[in-house]
Amino acid sequence: MRKLFAGSLVVAAAGSIAAYSQPNDVIYEGARLIIGDSSAPIENGAFVVRSGRITAIGPKGSIKAPSGAAHVDLTGKTVMPAMNNVHVHMGYEGYLSWSVENHTPENVLDHLEREAFYGVGTALAMGEQPTDFAIEFQQNQLAGKFPPAARFFFAAGMAPPGGGPDSLLIQGTGPLHAVYEVSTPDEAVAAVRKIAAKKVNELKFWVDNRDNTRGSMKKMPPEVYTPLIEEAHKQGMIVHAHATNLEDQKGVVKAGVDVLVHTLVAEKVDDEFIAILKAKKPYWAPVMGLGDRSELCDGDHGFIEQVLPDSVIADVKAGKTWLPSPPCSAPASPQFIQREENLRYNFPKYIAAGARIVLGTDAGVSAKYSFGFAEHHEIGMYVRLGLTPAEAIVASTSRPVEVLRIKDTGVLAMGKRADFIVLNANPLDDIRNTREIDAVYLYGARLDRAALQMKFKQARGGSR
Ligand SMILES: [Zn+2]
Repeated sequence: MRKLFAGSLVVAAAGSIAAYSQPNDVIYEGARLIIGDSSAPIENGAFVVRSGRITAIGPKGSIKAPSGAAHVDLTGKTVMPAMNNVHVHMGYEGYLSWSVENHTPENVLDHLEREAFYGVGTALAMGEQPTDFAIEFQQNQLAGKFPPAARFFFAAGMAPPGGGPDSLLIQGTGPLHAVYEVSTPDEAVAAVRKIAAKKVNELKFWVDNRDNTRGSMKKMPPEVYTPLIEEAHKQGMIVHAHATNLEDQKGVVKAGVDVLVHTLVAEKVDDEFIAILKAKKPYWAPVMGLGDRSELCDGDHGFIEQVLPDSVIADVKAGKTWLPSPPCSAPASPQFIQREENLRYNFPKYIAAGARIVLGTDAGVSAKYSFGFAEHHEIGMYVRLGLTPAEAIVASTSRPVEVLRIKDTGVLAMGKRADFIVLNANPLDDIRNTREIDAVYLYGARLDRAALQMKFKQARGGSR
């Protein structure tokens, strides 16, 4: 298998997406195939890939290898679609620094490569990118100017003047004027039209009590976000809302937001909210793991350490992170214990009410919970809180592409891009098996994970 792909890696290094897909047929045989929707896996399956796309898939034996096809034996392996993440913050994290100075195309690309390394095929930047920068980056990636990485998508961000992103992220978005600032319904509608004119499909707005104490002096009220959502829908956009308390979550879901972001950590859901969720059935990106204890604190954490510089690992353990987090040595705070109790209470209720969970991580504000490995922790939490592994896989593969409104990835099926992860163990048995990565393929090409890992381990972004 390695030998087969040695040539393609050289091409990959040259950088073109068009060039790195395999022009000739390759048949992958013998693996368990997890499709990514709710259908049953194919035990002992086979699929054919040509020019980056799946051209046939089924039980081994039912799929004929095209003449001249290369054979890849995946006996004993499990294949699942690449994951897709609808909530990250790219460009500012430098690991040794976190800064607006780090925000370059090269650094956004680095973050997308980190996502790809861990089996993520697309990542949606959520409101922190300056629009014109993001459009240009996306066009360059589509044109094949960058080496293989997760595909970049972005949402424009909207908030009251001086409000929106958290105390760290705003240090990046503020100087770059990345967030559209609006105070009135008219300003919100005008901003939505301005964004729509640039053919941007996704929009995020923030509703947060912290904005009552910041520059804006007032968090975004329903009188502003309701016409904002209506106009965005008229323009054919998907709208994501950051809301962290019960009152605001009720408000934004009632107003018709497509994707609810965050979950209640200090409150429990009530009957009124359950009824609203049942009526609206929003997509829901709970982005819970950032508030969890770092995996670096406990047990075996080679899965994370493989991509972080050693000094960063030591800093996370010591609680020296840009976004404040407790050191590993700190006992669990009463708030943390309450949070976990509320998550256990609330999570199954959101799901039972029809909230359609989609993978998002909030990666990009803390090395503790960063690009790529955060996904594996997050879907582990879904299972810890009540989903089956199969449901967690749907939430992280096929459902996010509904939010991205793309049809070319997210499942293993004929005509889809060959974006997939080869695993050494079956995640349907234990969700932690998504970490047993043998290989990642994007658009039919095997990622050079060893080379990427060497790059990631190097200290970058200056010194503290
Ligand atoms: Zn976020």
